Amino acid sequence: MTSSPIVALDGVAKRYGAFVALHETDLAIAEGEFVTLLGPSGCGKTTTLRLIGGFEQASDGRIAIAGQDVTESPPYRRPVNTVFQDYALFPHMSVAENIGYGLSVRSGRLEKTERRRRVAEALALVGLEGMADRRPGALSGGQRQRVAMARAVVRRPRVLLLDEPLSALDVKLREGMQVELKRLHRELGITFLMVTHDQTEALALSDRIVVMREGRIAQIGSPTDLYDHPATPYVADFIGAANLLEAEALGREGDVCAFRLVNGATLRSRRREAAGATTGSRVTLGVRPERMMAARPETGAANALDCIVMERLFHGDCLRIELAPEGGGKPLFAELARTALPATVSAGSRLAVHIDPDDVMVFDAGGGK
Ligand code: ADP
Ligand code: MG
Repeated sequence: MTSSPIVALDGVAKRYGAFVALHETDLAIAEGEFVTLLGPSGCGKTTTLRLIGGFEQASDGRIAIAGQDVTESPPYRRPVNTVFQDYALFPHMSVAENIGYGLSVRSGRLEKTERRRRVAEALALVGLEGMADRRPGALSGGQRQRVAMARAVVRRPRVLLLDEPLSALDVKLREGMQVELKRLHRELGITFLMVTHDQTEALALSDRIVVMREGRIAQIGSPTDLYDHPATPYVADFIGAANLLEAEALGREGDVCAFRLVNGATLRSRRREAAGATTGSRVTLGVRPERMMAARPETGAANALDCIVMERLFHGDCLRIELAPEGGGKPLFAELARTALPATVSAGSRLAVHIDPDDVMVFDAGGGK
């Protein structure tokens, strides 16, 4: 990070009595970034956002925004604004009044014409021209979401905090609003810090994703970093999906490392992290369902696992196949192109799946779990 971060957490922790909602955490966000906090419900995402917004006091550590220590500052003294999960619009106020409220609270006494201009500008930004006089009750879910966005940006914060901004919308609307969020981020040129439990949303929108687990950061990286090089089985399975296989390292053969699965089958990996596995050590292998390919059992394809098909599920553009490895082991999932599998392959059929050694991820190769 070249310039100083717009948001910096330094050893920030949050405890509620004996319960630790956020363990000591360091995090630096660069000006203009779109960063997402991603993790399952209860992992501390909202807590982190509320600490930055000033709605919670840190139990430990310091928080700086735009170079100022704001650890003790109330929300209105911080150059940030929040779009709350439930939007928190005032039902008795019109759309324009709701948006203008953001200005009156914090910007002191702006001139009336300037206020009106800014509200109109915010309305236009979210595509709600002509809706200024409506009450929130007379708007669709998507429109209410836009009002909440307009109200949050009208004061031109340096950082916009968004707590699951799209979770109240149905799937189709959510996809449309993802594009809108991305456009808004580009047009405003400010920093977005968004909370979501939806990995697809995080992957689609973020410059960087902060994957959280039980009050800690599990891994930070760009969407492609996290997808291609997850640091742990947890991240591998949360960003995308992964089949996780217990295995024992057999040793190196040239640039690949061989591993024995519980059913005795051998899988080879050519990934950089495989090099750390010493012979005899226990590791977890990760294979993404979409990286498995179908092969006929009798062809003896390289790096293949012989399996029995348990279920064949139609997913439109692809088939999702549940497989039981021959000789035992946990069921596996493969995602195959529809054209890759003859219609005759169904529950009970034998099917070998082969995997490119570059696609066999290796975890815990350094030893202990
Ligand atoms: P997330 O947004 O990731 O779903 P939260 O940050 O809201 O999770 O909550 C993290 C944990 O902290 C949860 O176990 C939650 O119950 C707990 N928690 C949040 N707020 C409070 C509070 N005010 N008092 C006690 N526990 C809380
Ligand atoms: Mg939350």
